Amino acid sequence: MQIINLNPDTDIGATSWFVEIEGHRLLMDAGVHPKREGRESLPLYDVVRNEELDAIAISHCHHDHVGSLPVALRYFPQAHVLMTELSYFLVERVLHNSVNVMKRQRDELGIKEYPLFSHDEVDDLAPLFQGFRYNREVDWASFEKTRAGSASPTLEFYDAGHALGSAGMMIRGQKEKLFFTGDVCFHDQTLLKTARFENVKADVLIMETTRGMRELPPGFTRESEIERLSQSIHRVLERKGSILIPTFALGRTQEILALFAIMMGQGKLKKQPIYIGGLGRVFTEIYDLESHRTNRQHPDLQLREALNLIVLEQGQAEKMKLGGGRLFVITAGMMSENTAAHNLGLRMIGDPDQAIFFVGYTDPDTPGGRLKAAKHGETFILSGSGGQVTRLCEIEEFDLTAHANRNELLDLVTQVEPRTVLLSHGDGPARNWFEEQIRARHPNIKVIQPKPGERIQV
Ligand SMILES: [Zn+2]
Ligand SMILES: [Zn+2]
Repeated sequence: MQIINLNPDTDIGATSWFVEIEGHRLLMDAGVHPKREGRESLPLYDVVRNEELDAIAISHCHHDHVGSLPVALRYFPQAHVLMTELSYFLVERVLHNSVNVMKRQRDELGIKEYPLFSHDEVDDLAPLFQGFRYNREVDWASFEKTRAGSASPTLEFYDAGHALGSAGMMIRGQKEKLFFTGDVCFHDQTLLKTARFENVKADVLIMETTRGMRELPPGFTRESEIERLSQSIHRVLERKGSILIPTFALGRTQEILALFAIMMGQGKLKKQPIYIGGLGRVFTEIYDLESHRTNRQHPDLQLREALNLIVLEQGQAEKMKLGGGRLFVITAGMMSENTAAHNLGLRMIGDPDQAIFFVGYTDPDTPGGRLKAAKHGETFILSGSGGQVTRLCEIEEFDLTAHANRNELLDLVTQVEPRTVLLSHGDGPARNWFEEQIRARHPNIKVIQPKPGERIQV
């Protein structure tokens, strides 16, 4: 089979893989690069523009995996679009939100190419989307080809435990199998349960490497991390400071809200309103509605009933009083510019009473990453619009990741027994760590770090 990494960057960026297997062609994911702007943020669709694509399959609804789907469909208007049933409930909301964000960026940052697609386009494309249950094999080759007598390869989604609807994907041809992990989590989170990849075996494995540089400290448990978070929240609320937890709207937000709901239920946290963003509210509603269809803990916990959630209005983050101890769980996770988390954080950074708590991956080259790295009292440039700031607020990091730990991914390689592993979705040092470890443990496995746009025969 042939594989092309269409991510324009070698690090975490716009995930998109072109796969040709036994004469059939598939795109896996259609993301946008979180740190690039305009057309630069797109996967290298031009590289495969002349290919006859049968289908596009989506691993999950985070922007780095689905944010350019309408653009991909301009290149391949005939393609079927396959995703999990749970992603199917989310995808249109995610894409419409992208249009809104891009429009705002066009107005505020003057990026003329934005929006890269329109609300009407999203509405027109929606009938192409198909949702499937986990662990069901579906044919994905185009009707014409299968009618001509060539058997279709199949696709099966495996629950990846990372965010609602997230999946690893098994592509089965007549002779060969490819497995793509997508973003995966091998431990139970507060809501979502661990990935279910138990029986996966494949000839080729494409694997995420987000936490390749992260070694868990001895004795680390998620429970002790949650306890530490709980104590830190107490400490800040006691001095009447407010707490900002910058999060992605899908996944992180609901996991943190669930934690708060449980803490409040146990009397560990005083009942009080929690401020969230509009998109966070939409996804929280879908988490609630689909709770019994999801492989999760606390299926009866309805976040909107258990908590007093207040949606921040446009511009409110810039104005509202921060004294008196408020809780904010708002986007964006890396505090990118023009988001509520950025604008609120900007007001909190210089105030020793306030606290900003990070609970997920933060790229070092983002406002959130720079803030996390800043020492107390250090002056640094937060962002273009935020300018120079001096950090006096409390900053803490809690490891409540939704990504697999590196040893768990090494165990996955052992289990899958591939002949080739392609490393992706991680910084250079993280990918290198995996390459070395896999080579040492499995000298017969070929390890590849695919360059953007390079056609690889595996
Ligand atoms: Zn993700
Ligand atoms: Zn991702």
